[in-house]
Amino acid sequence: MYLEKKYNDFRARIRDFAERVIGPHVARVDETGVYPKELFDAMGKEGYLGMVVPKEYGGTGFEFLEYVIAVEELSRVCGSTGLSVAAHNGLGCSPIVRFGSEAQKKKYLPEVASGKKIASFGLTEPQGGSDAGNTQTTAARVEGGWKITGTKCWITNASFGEVFNLTARSDPKSIGPKGISAFIIERGWKGFSSGRKENKMGLRGSDTAFLHLDEVFCPEENLLGPEGNGFKQFMMTLDTGRIAIGGMAVGLAQGAFDVAARYAKERHAFGQPISTYQAIQWKLADMAVQIEAARHLVYHAARMRDMGLPLVKEAAMAKLFSSEAVRFVTYEAIQVLGGFGYSSRYPVERMYRDMKLCEIGEGTSEIQRIVIAREVLKQTEKLFGGMVTEKLS
Ligand SMILES: Cc1cc2nc3c(=O)[nH]c(=O)nc-3n(C[C@H](O)[C@H](O)[C@H](O)COP(=O)(O)OP(=O)(O)OC[C@H]3O[C@@H](n4cnc5c(N)ncnc54)[C@H](O)[C@@H]3O)c2cc1C
Repeated sequence: MYLEKKYNDFRARIRDFAERVIGPHVARVDETGVYPKELFDAMGKEGYLGMVVPKEYGGTGFEFLEYVIAVEELSRVCGSTGLSVAAHNGLGCSPIVRFGSEAQKKKYLPEVASGKKIASFGLTEPQGGSDAGNTQTTAARVEGGWKITGTKCWITNASFGEVFNLTARSDPKSIGPKGISAFIIERGWKGFSSGRKENKMGLRGSDTAFLHLDEVFCPEENLLGPEGNGFKQFMMTLDTGRIAIGGMAVGLAQGAFDVAARYAKERHAFGQPISTYQAIQWKLADMAVQIEAARHLVYHAARMRDMGLPLVKEAAMAKLFSSEAVRFVTYEAIQVLGGFGYSSRYPVERMYRDMKLCEIGEGTSEIQRIVIAREVLKQTEKLFGGMVTEKLS
C-alpha cells in the first residue's frame, strides 16, 4: 500500500523495536502467560505508551495513523503486546485526553503517558458486554463525591493497571444508556480490587481480569466529563478504539503471511518448493488481497480520525473486515505450513489463537454489523428519502 515516506520510516523504526526487543520473549510469554515488566518499561521509554497523549501532557502526540501503524507492527510480532498497548493508549489514556478536565489531564496524563502508571477501561460487566447500556454498577451520591459499587469483567491490564476509567449508573431512576456517568478510579482506593488473571485461549500475555468495587469513594473531581454522559463518551472511545483493533488484526495477519510466504519458498514437496504449486500460490494471493484490503479500510478510518471527521461507520467496517480477514489469513497460514503450522514450533498457531479476540473485543462482529447497517440505512434515507417501492393497487 502506498504511504508517504514519514509513515514508512516510522514503520521501519517500530518494526525494528518489535522484532529486536519484544520478539525474543513472545513464545515464552504465550507459554507462561507472564508478560515481563521490562517490556512495558522499554515501550514507555520509546514513547509507545503515550501515543495518543499531546506533547504538552508528556505524550508523543502522534497522529492517529502513526498510532495504528504502531499497534499493527507490535501485533505483527506479538498480539499480546498489541492489545495491551492499544488498551492502555486508546482506552486508558484517550478518554482522559478527550473528556478530562484540565486538572485531570495535568494529574493523570504525564504519569500514564510515560508508562509510570498503566491505564485501563472498565465498561463490560458480567451480565453482558454488548448491551453495555444496561450497566449495573452504581454510583451513589455522597458528600464530596460518589460511592461506586459493582463488578467489571474482561478488563485488559486490570491486574497491574493503576488508573481506571469506568462507567457506573449515577441516576438510580434511569434505565438504559441514559443516567450513566464515567469516573476515574485509582488502584489503592478503599474497596477496589482486581480478580485473578483469566486463563485465555490466546493473547495469553495480555492481562485480563475482573474489577470489584465495593463502595469505593470517588471524589467529585474524578467524575470524567459531564454527569450522565458516560455511555456516550465510552461509545465515542470505542469508535476510535476499533480502528486500533483493526490495526492489531492487520498486524497479526501480516505476521502470519510473512511466515507462510517464506516457508512456502523454502519447503519442498515432490522435488520442488511448494510455492511453485498453484494451490499454494492462490492461497498466498488470497491472503495478500485480504491483508491489503483490510489495511486500506483501517488506515482510511485512521486518517478520518486525524481529520476529525465522523467515522462510526468507517471504524466499524474497518474492524469487522480486518477481524474476518485475519481469521482467514491465519487459518490458511497454518495450512501452508502443514503439520509444522499446527505446532508451536512456528508462530502461526499462536496467531490463529490470538486473532479470535479481534472478533469479540471492543464490540463483536455481530455488533459491528448492527452499527454498519444502522449507518448505511440512515445514509440511504438521507440520500433518497421517500418511497422506492411501488404502491400496490
Ligand atoms: C481478551 C479480552 C479483553 C477485553 N478487554 C476489555 C476491556 O479492557 N474493557 C472492557 O470494558 N471490556 C473488555 N472486554 C470485553 C469485550 O468488549 C466483550 O467481551 C464484548 O463486548 C462482548 O461482550 P460479552 O462478552 O458480554 O458478550 P455478549 O454481549 O454476552 O454476547 C454474546 C454473543 O451474543 C451476540 N449478541 C449480543 N447482542 C446481540 C444482538 N443485539 N444482536 C446479535 N448478536 C448479539 C454477541 O455478538 C456474541 O456473539 C474484553 C474481552 C476480551 C475477551
